[in-house]
Amino acid sequence: MLGALAMVAIVLVLSLLAAGAGSAGAGSGRLAVHFIDVGQGDSILVQAPSGKTMLIDGGPADASARLVACLEAEKVSGIDVLVATHPHADHIGGLAEVLRTFPVDLVVDSGKVHTTATYERFLTLIDQKNIRFRLGRAGDRIDLGPGLDAEILHPSEPLPENMNDCSIVIRLRYGKVGFLFTGDAEREAEGAMLDSGADLSATVLKVAHHGSRTSSSPWFLEAVKPTVAVIMVGAGNSYGHPHRMTLLNLQDYMDRVYRTDLDGDVVMTTDGTTFEVRTARSGP
Ligand SMILES: [Zn+2]
Repeated sequence: MLGALAMVAIVLVLSLLAAGAGSAGAGSGRLAVHFIDVGQGDSILVQAPSGKTMLIDGGPADASARLVACLEAEKVSGIDVLVATHPHADHIGGLAEVLRTFPVDLVVDSGKVHTTATYERFLTLIDQKNIRFRLGRAGDRIDLGPGLDAEILHPSEPLPENMNDCSIVIRLRYGKVGFLFTGDAEREAEGAMLDSGADLSATVLKVAHHGSRTSSSPWFLEAVKPTVAVIMVGAGNSYGHPHRMTLLNLQDYMDRVYRTDLDGDVVMTTDGTTFEVRTARSGP
């Protein structure tokens, strides 16, 4: 997929490092983050310099064949950490096929109960395959090898009522470059993270809930201060995502917001100091 040949050369090289400093990333491999176009849904592949892989969500079931093909094209032979941010079908629908295709070492789940056949099938497969399973809670860390810091910032117990607000939120840092993966977190989750005092700052924001108006409040954006944003959204979706107000608020921080409905797959690679963005299409 994300095969370099197909990529249109949209390259941003941001100098994030003050002159001279340069420990992180120096001499080590690169971190790659693939925002995979699964239509209306989320699926993000993280390939660590250590070789470890983390898949955050698996998109809807009808995109699972494409998702598996994308992972195979990236030479993924196994998944070290599979994160299900929350049990809505646009996030976990494709995970059954992923579990059938690839060996998975650890599943991190929100633990929010959802009585759908999709979620039950997901849990049954994990059980049948005897895969390690744990709940993701604020303060937990995910081991992706040296140089990477992956911390879960949300949720905490007790879980919110609203399923989207139970989304597992992960802040991934490699040197000076940070990513914030927000699932479908809405206002209550954003408020909880702001109240927690956690450092939310990140270079790259995976915009929550497909750019819905119920997420990405100005207060939250001000705490994150992203310079690059990605909205994972399906073309012509019936939800009106992304919302115009969200796009306007994001424009206060950056000129260019990547969107999987317009750009296709969006791939970011970084050595911890600078990073590049490539997209499958040329975008808007
Ligand atoms: Zn969603």
